[in-house]
Amino acid sequence: MNKEYLYKKTPSNLQGLVEIAYNLWWSWNSEAKKMFEIINPYLWKESSENPIKFLKILSEEEFQKLSKNKEFLKEYNYVYSLFKEYINKKIKFLDNEPLPIAYFCAEFGLHHSLPIYSGGLGFLAGDILKESSDLNIPIIGVGFMYPGGYVRQVIGSDGWQNGTEENIIKDEAPIERVLDEKGNHLVIKVPYIDPPVYVSVWKVNIGRVSLYLLDTDIEQNSPWDRQISYRLYTPDLNQRLRQQIVLGVGGYAVLERLGIKYNILHLNEGHPAFALYERIRFFMESENLSFDDAVSRVRETSIFTTHTPLAAATDVYNFDMVVNYFNDYIKKLGISSDKFLSFAINPDNPNGFNMTVFAFNLSKYKNAVSRKHFGVVKEMWGKLLREEDKLDYVTNGVHVSSWLAGNINKLIDKTLGANWMDFEEDIGMWSKIDDIDDKEFWKIHYQNKVKMINFIKERVRHKWKNEGIDPIIALAEGALLDPDILTIGFARRMTEYKRPYLILKDLNRLEKLVNDEERPIQIIFAGKAHPADIPGKKIIQQIFNVAKDSRFAGRIAFVEDYNEEVAKYLVRGCDVWLNNPKIPLEACGTSGMKASINGVLHCSTKDGWWPEGFNGKNGWAFGGDESDDEKDANALYDLLEKEIIPKFYNMDDLEYSKEWVGMMKEAIKSVTPKFSARRMMFDYLNKFYLQIKE
Ligand SMILES: *Cc1c(COP(=O)(O)O)cnc(C)c1O
Repeated sequence: MNKEYLYKKTPSNLQGLVEIAYNLWWSWNSEAKKMFEIINPYLWKESSENPIKFLKILSEEEFQKLSKNKEFLKEYNYVYSLFKEYINKKIKFLDNEPLPIAYFCAEFGLHHSLPIYSGGLGFLAGDILKESSDLNIPIIGVGFMYPGGYVRQVIGSDGWQNGTEENIIKDEAPIERVLDEKGNHLVIKVPYIDPPVYVSVWKVNIGRVSLYLLDTDIEQNSPWDRQISYRLYTPDLNQRLRQQIVLGVGGYAVLERLGIKYNILHLNEGHPAFALYERIRFFMESENLSFDDAVSRVRETSIFTTHTPLAAATDVYNFDMVVNYFNDYIKKLGISSDKFLSFAINPDNPNGFNMTVFAFNLSKYKNAVSRKHFGVVKEMWGKLLREEDKLDYVTNGVHVSSWLAGNINKLIDKTLGANWMDFEEDIGMWSKIDDIDDKEFWKIHYQNKVKMINFIKERVRHKWKNEGIDPIIALAEGALLDPDILTIGFARRMTEYKRPYLILKDLNRLEKLVNDEERPIQIIFAGKAHPADIPGKKIIQQIFNVAKDSRFAGRIAFVEDYNEEVAKYLVRGCDVWLNNPKIPLEACGTSGMKASINGVLHCSTKDGWWPEGFNGKNGWAFGGDESDDEKDANALYDLLEKEIIPKFYNMDDLEYSKEWVGMMKEAIKSVTPKFSARRMMFDYLNKFYLQIKE
C-alpha cells in the first residue's frame, strides 16, 4: 500500500508531508504548493506537480538532507500548522447548518493526477466539494473510480485524434483504500443485481470533505463486469445502464455499509438517479413506510441538478432492459413493473426509461445551472412539475483559490487584505481593484502569458525529443507562439454544439488578422473529443490542418491532451477567452469564469452564464439570439477587427493598453464575487439545503 510505503520512506520529523500529499487541500493552498516546489523544483515539474509521485521519486538522500534543513523545517512546520488548522478549526461561516448531504455524480474534476472527469460537469462537482470543505458544509461525495480514465489524446500527423487509455496509476493518485474490519480493501456487493456485481471502495480527501469512489475492476467480478467502471461514458447502452445502476444503487449501498448518515440526497445530473430507488427501498425497510409514503419521503429530501438542454440528449433505456436488471428490486418494492417504470416516462416521447424524467419526478427540488438554462428547463420539463415542486436555478461558480493564478492572488491580497477570501461575495469590496497600478497589473498578466507559452513549448520539446514526432506537429502544437501578441484561447470538450470551428469559417479573413504586421493575433485551441464522437474528431482534424498550414505562420496552435493542468495555464495566460456555443445548448459553461477571475476577457455568444455575467465593460457578447454559423462568424470577425484588436494594441508609448487593463480589472471585479463557488454554495444552501428539515 503506497501511503504506508511513503510514511516509511519519509523521515519521522516530516511525516506530515505524506498526510498533506494525500489531501487535495494542498492543491488550492499556495503555501503548500510552494513547500513542495522548493524541495526540488525540477522533480516537482517532472512529477507534473503531483506530490504523491514527487515523494515517491524523491531520493532517500534528499529526504535525509531535508530533515536536517532548518530553513525547510520552518517552512514545513508552518504549512503543516496551516493544514491542521484548516482541518480542525470549527469555522463558522453559516448561521444555520444544513443537514448532511450525499452528493452523487458520475465524474469529479479535482486534479490531473486523478483523471475521472471529461469536462464541465466534473469540475462543477469537484468545485462544489472543495467549496463545501472551505465553508464546512457537511457533504459526502460518491462517484466512480475509472481505472481507464477518460481518454489520453494523441493527435496523429493527419490531425486525427487517436485516443489511448489514460490509465490511472493508482499508487500515484490521491486515493486511499477504504478498509474493512479485517484490514482488507473493502468490497461490497451491489444489492439486488443479478448476477451479482462487486465494487471496491476508494476515498479521496478534499480538505474536510470525503469523496468515495466505486471501482468494479476487481477480481471478484467477471471480465465483463470488471469493465463497468473502466472508462467514463461508454457508448454501449447496456454497459452504460449497468454503470448507472452500479453508481446509484452501489453508491447508496457503500454509504450504508460505511454507516455514513445523511438526510439530503443531491444528484448532479441524471446518471446516478437509481440511488432514488435504493432510497425508497431503504425508507420502506427501515421506517416501515408504504411504497407511496417512501416516495414522498424521498421527494421531500432530494435535489436534482439538470444540465441537459436537449430532450434528445438524455439517457433513455429500453424498458425491457431496465426491468431485466431490476426484477428482484421490483418484487422487493412490492409494486408492478409498470409502476416501477412510470416515474421515468417522458409524456412527449414515451418510448423508454428516461433518466432525467426519472430524477425529475422523484425529487421535489430541482435546478437548472444558469438563468438562461432555467428558461430552457421550464420549457422542456415544466409539464412534469407538481404543485409542491420547487424548480429554480443556481448558476454555476468556480472555486476561486483553485483557479486564480498565484501572482494575481498575491496582488489581490495586497489590495484587499490577506483575508479577502472570507468576504469573497462582498461586491462592494471589489471596487478597490481599480487602485492597482496598471503597469504592475499588466506585468503580472504578462508573466502568466509567458508561463503558459513556456509550458506549451516544453511539452512540444519533450515530444520532439522523446517521441520522434513529425516536425510539423511541433509547429502545429505551439512551438512558434509569441507572448507579445494578442492571444485568443479556445479550450473545452471538442464537440459540435460548442462550434470550435466558428473562427475558422472564413480563412482568408482570419489570415489577414493573424498576419497583420503591426497587430497580429494568435489562437490556442485545446480539447478532447469523446472517443465515440466522430464529428468532434473531424473538427479537431480541421483545426489541426489549419494549425499545420504555413499560411498561418505557426500562430494557430492545437495543444494536445487538454486536462486540468493545461486548463490552469490557459485560463490564466490568454488575453481573450472565446466561447461560441450554439444557443441554447451551453447550460452554463465555467471556463469563461475561470478566465475572467484572472483578468482574461470573455468573448462569448449570449448563452449559458454570460447573459448574467456580461455588463458591457467586462468582455464582449456577440452573435444573435438564434445561432447561425455564417452570421455569428461574421459578427466575431467584425468584433475582432473593430473592437478587440484595436483596444489591445492601443498602447501609446506604454507596453500595454490602459483601456485593456481597465477591462481586465472590470472582469475580475464583476465576475469573482458573483460567479464563485462560494456564491453558488450559498444559493444551494438558501434555495435548497436549508429548506430541508429533519
Ligand atoms: C472548466 C473546465 C471545463 C469546462 O469548461 P466549459 O467552458 O464549461 O466547457 C472542461 N475541461 C476542463 C479541463 C476544465 O478545467
